[in-house]
Amino acid sequence: MNEHTIRHVVILGGGTAGWMAAAALSRFLNNGVTRITLVESEEIGTVGVGEATIPPLLTFNRMLGIDEQDFIRATGGTFKLGIEFVDWGGLGERYFHPFGAHGHDLGGVHFHQLYLRERQRRVMQDISAWSMSAVAAQAGKFAPPSPTAQSAVKELLYAYHFDAARYADFLRGYAERNGVRRVEGKVAAVAQRPEDGYVTALRLEDGQTIAGELFVDCSGFRGLLIEETLATGYEDWRRWLPCDRAVAVPSALAGDPDPYTRATARGAGWQWRIPLQERMGNGLVYCSDYQSRESAERELLHHLEGAPLAQPRHLAFTTGRRALAWNRNVVALGLASGFVEPLESTSIHLVQSGIAKLIALFPDRRFAAVERDEYNAQMHELYEDVRDFVILHYKATRRDDTRFWERCRTMDVPASLQRKIDLFRAKGRVFREGRELFATTSWVAVCLGQHIVPDEHEPAADALDEERVAEAIEQMRRDYLAVADKLPRHGDFLRHIGAAT
Ligand code: FAD
Repeated sequence: MNEHTIRHVVILGGGTAGWMAAAALSRFLNNGVTRITLVESEEIGTVGVGEATIPPLLTFNRMLGIDEQDFIRATGGTFKLGIEFVDWGGLGERYFHPFGAHGHDLGGVHFHQLYLRERQRRVMQDISAWSMSAVAAQAGKFAPPSPTAQSAVKELLYAYHFDAARYADFLRGYAERNGVRRVEGKVAAVAQRPEDGYVTALRLEDGQTIAGELFVDCSGFRGLLIEETLATGYEDWRRWLPCDRAVAVPSALAGDPDPYTRATARGAGWQWRIPLQERMGNGLVYCSDYQSRESAERELLHHLEGAPLAQPRHLAFTTGRRALAWNRNVVALGLASGFVEPLESTSIHLVQSGIAKLIALFPDRRFAAVERDEYNAQMHELYEDVRDFVILHYKATRRDDTRFWERCRTMDVPASLQRKIDLFRAKGRVFREGRELFATTSWVAVCLGQHIVPDEHEPAADALDEERVAEAIEQMRRDYLAVADKLPRHGDFLRHIGAAT
């Protein structure tokens, strides 16, 4: 296969991962040489969950030239300004993890350091009062900032909630218009080259053979190519992320949708609440060592705010990642490449990031080990960063009311995370390393929200005049409130762009 132009890319799977890959590759490999075929089976279907995203998805859609309002209308989408966490640090507590920054740095000192210093002098509001996204979210307000916005409104960073199946359909239309061929059928066998195991073709149950040079495995949890064919191996992360089941159900929406996700900790896991245009998405993620399927379903239904609109759907998973995301001529994306946990809505982002890296390292003429190794190293790093940030939510708790929380609170965490917790606990320091996804705001929000409160602040903060800093901080808070006050209500904005609510 070496020294071969890649003429045919075969994508296996038509879930969100498969159609995101098909759309992006059709946009970037539009060179008259490379054909793209996507194989999917309606009978097998897709995972059918996955509704919340993070801000980089805006870049993905823009890269494809997708109009935001068309996308929102087509996917039942709403806007998301962050996540409200309820009962995580302790029962009866809540905090907000917003997109975008907290406040402004002053004199070269990080805002959160000045906030920590102020907190030692007087009683302060929660740090989310200094986040444009959090203030707008809690007021139920939203409008995207115009590119020329002058005020604090330009700090309003956002993502989306949407129906992932409708997003996949939307991207299917885009990809097919760009020449992607869709083949309906179930893969029955996979042909490999005897000398090195490279995949050469998919054989479908109806007898069709789909041959290709590069295969993108988007077949979901089973990893039909990456695992069932190439036996790549899977790193199991359940010792840190013990939830292994979920039950999901949509419910009727009572009133306009909130512009944020809510994640409420429960006895053996947590529950999501994701407002879409026409329904609420709900699900309970739990650990089967501590809760049965029946009890999880009862708990989920008990906490619904509106009537259920379908039968609850049960799913099983193993948190972790594939030992290699790219093995031989197979690149795994989406659930086929791993699953951290939906707590910080990162799965679709991991798909997007995998596609971007594949395009950047695309093996157009030959498979080079250096490119494959680089891809695997970058994906490893990204998965581990996300993993550590998600583990933080389980570890940093005072809860001891159930055996599940007792286990999470007392577990050993990866050394990479322990170092970050120790640095934050000492002087509130956060260093964004390499290509890390979660920035300072995220670490500060979760650490402070879950009782990792530094003993001191950075000495550099003491160089600034206390009174002037106090005044500036107070002014910022008032500015955020004033800007949020002028924004339209999220529901009104959705109606304004022709989205149903
Ligand atoms: P799937 O949707 O499972 O698609 C697999 C595809 O492979 C299907 O088209 C299927 O037909 C095809 N296939 C499989 N075998 C064969 C075969 N033999 N022949 C032919 N075709 C085959 N992500 C987020 O970003 N935000 C969230 O809020 C979020 N919440 C989640 C909650 C839960 C409980 C879970 C489990 C996941 C969540 N995710 C979330 C992840 C998200 O759902 C997935 O990352 C995303 O939908 C991509 O799935 P996929 O395309 O990899 O797999």
